[in-house]
This record gives sequence, C-alpha cells and structure tokens, in this order.
Amino acid sequence: MKNSIIVLVSGGMDSATLLWLAKKEFEEVYAISFDYGQKHSIELKFAKELAKIANVKEHFIVEIPHLKGIKGSALTDKDIKIPSQSYPNEPPITTVPMRNLNFLSIAASFSDIYEIQNIGIGIHSVDSPYPDCRAEFASSVESAINASSIMVAKKKNRIQVYTPFLGMTKTDVLKIGLELGVPYEKTYSCYKGTVPPCEECATCQQRQEAFEALGLKDPLL
Ligand SMILES: [Zn+2]
Repeated sequence: MKNSIIVLVSGGMDSATLLWLAKKEFEEVYAISFDYGQKHSIELKFAKELAKIANVKEHFIVEIPHLKGIKGSALTDKDIKIPSQSYPNEPPITTVPMRNLNFLSIAASFSDIYEIQNIGIGIHSVDSPYPDCRAEFASSVESAINASSIMVAKKKNRIQVYTPFLGMTKTDVLKIGLELGVPYEKTYSCYKGTVPPCEECATCQQRQEAFEALGLKDPLL
C-alpha cells in the first residue's frame, strides 16, 4: 500500500497549508470538501482551485444535507448574524454542531474504501474555542474510526487522524506554508462570504493577525 492521505480542504489558509504539507509528506494525496449550507460556500470555489493546483489524485465534494437544515449556528442559520468580533462566547456562535465529527466520519468512509491510511485536518490552537478542534476530540475520533474500519479489520493496520498543526498558532501555520509555497492569494477565510472579505469576522481578524505578525500583507486583500 502507498503512503496516502485524504485532506479536509475548506479553501481557507490552514487547510491549504495542510494540503501542501501533505504533498511533501505523502506519496498519494486526496482532498475532500463539504457543502453543509455554510453562508460562505464561496470557499468551495477556492477549495476546488487549490485541489487542482495541488494536483491531488481526486477531490471529493460532499453535501451534508442534515447540517444544512439544523438551525442554531451563525454559519448556517440565516436568522443569526455572523459576529463582527473574535469569539465573544465559548463555544462560539459560529460552531456548527459536530461539524468535524461529521467531516471526519465521511472522510473515513472514503479512506476505508480507497484504502487511505491518513485523514488530515488542519486544526490548531487558535481553533480551540471550538470543542471539535481540540486534541481530545481528534484522538477520540481516531479511536472510533479504527474500531469501525473494514480496512483495519482486514489488514490489521491503523488509520491516523493527521493533525500536524495541533498546539501551533495560526502564525506558526502560516510560516510553514510560506516555506512550502502555498498560494495564499487563492485561499479564502471570511465567514460572511463576501467579496472582498469583510475584514471584521473572527476568521478575517485571525488571518490578518497571522500575516501582520510576520510583517506581511494578506495577498487576498
Ligand atoms: Zn470576514
């Protein structure tokens, strides 16, 4: 079996960096993106372009209809505004219930059939207000995936939830990405989904802070 990975690609700068890191670290790279009713579904256009530039073996785009229908998250509920500040509450109102659990479960279905040994997710310390971005979550999901995998049962190997950015800041991630030559002008992070990005929402602010910390200007702006 080849050393392979399927990377969760949102179109944002963290997952783009992970995709470029995966290209360096793994022989065979797949990408997967999700249409879950996010207000900023424009990010999927960026995800497609990134997957194309990265020349992945295959890019899967999966719709998650039940997440589209669930209310209560500012990311998907038209009646709740995206806050124009960084995470005033914890967990933030932009938390989509069990989003990463859904994403990793679906990615694990692909990994099981395509025999992909690694599932990459670009979570880091700045994401930690989101319960499904924490180390405990990632290791628990990895255990569940291995316990339910056909491939693992047959071949006695393991599936790894690959989280190289855990414990890092967004600035650390950006530093890695700049060395890898990630085309950040082709990434998109704004939760409001506007063009140009709103520069006010939490993800816009965090993105700006990361570039500023390195004395750089965001090439998307
Ligand atoms: Zn924004």
